[in-house]
Amino acid sequence: MIHFVGAGPGAPDLITLRGAELLRRAGLIVYAGSLVNPKLLELAPDGCEIYDSASMTLDQVLEKLAAGENRKVVTVRLHTGDPSLYGAVREQMDRLKELGIEYDVVPGVSSFCAAAAAAKVEYTLPAVSQTVIVARMEGRTPVPEREKLSLLAEHRASMVLFLSSGLLKESCAALTSEGCYTPDTKAAIVYKASWPEEKVLRGTIGTIASQAEAAGIRNTALLLVGDFLGGDYDMSKLYDASFSHTFRKACR
Ligand code: SAH
Repeated sequence: MIHFVGAGPGAPDLITLRGAELLRRAGLIVYAGSLVNPKLLELAPDGCEIYDSASMTLDQVLEKLAAGENRKVVTVRLHTGDPSLYGAVREQMDRLKELGIEYDVVPGVSSFCAAAAAAKVEYTLPAVSQTVIVARMEGRTPVPEREKLSLLAEHRASMVLFLSSGLLKESCAALTSEGCYTPDTKAAIVYKASWPEEKVLRGTIGTIASQAEAAGIRNTALLLVGDFLGGDYDMSKLYDASFSHTFRKACR
């Protein structure tokens, strides 16, 4: 059994209890070295084999996972944040299926949740946006035509862009190209959310790229865009004293 485990966004105490327990029992770990906090590897027992997948190909990763399976040790594939987002896990799972090796997945705290925590914001504000678009700017990995940022911007929903901090100028230009978001739409950059070096920059689509450049931020950052970063919103019904729901009667 191979365990895909979400390591969380960086802080070692933001992995799940289940994920930490698997690391404590692991005989072999393959971790995504570019973003997983190496402190998490200190949970591994003595004698555990540990490999950084940053310089490996898919075949090499599979070779290590299969070796763990053959030795019948607890084998962990440790991914940053939550494995389901930009984790390239599907191709690994499909290869394990072909090899007849069982696997399961332990979710993790995605960096887009850690970024909201760092910036102390709520993505889903009443009367502002009830939708979060998680996307990326097209880079070397192509994005389907219908998911171009200019088209996604038409929704004016809360937006989080992964993997785009090296293309901030291009991202901001695409977001405003159809006039849906404007240069004065609120934007923020969250760099290394939950790490000691975490930074939150607040500005607008018009200013955020140069703010990031001035701060020397080129990677491991998320671009947040939308009116949820502003001050206007409606109160929720959830805690409204005049509103009844399944768990509470109106008291006014
Ligand atoms: N599966 C991961 C994302 C992997 S893609 C998750 O759920 O978070 C890698 C991208 O995620 C980076 O380029 C960056 O945009 C973002 N990222 C990962 N960790 C981050 C962090 N701690 N702070 C800000 N952005 C982060």
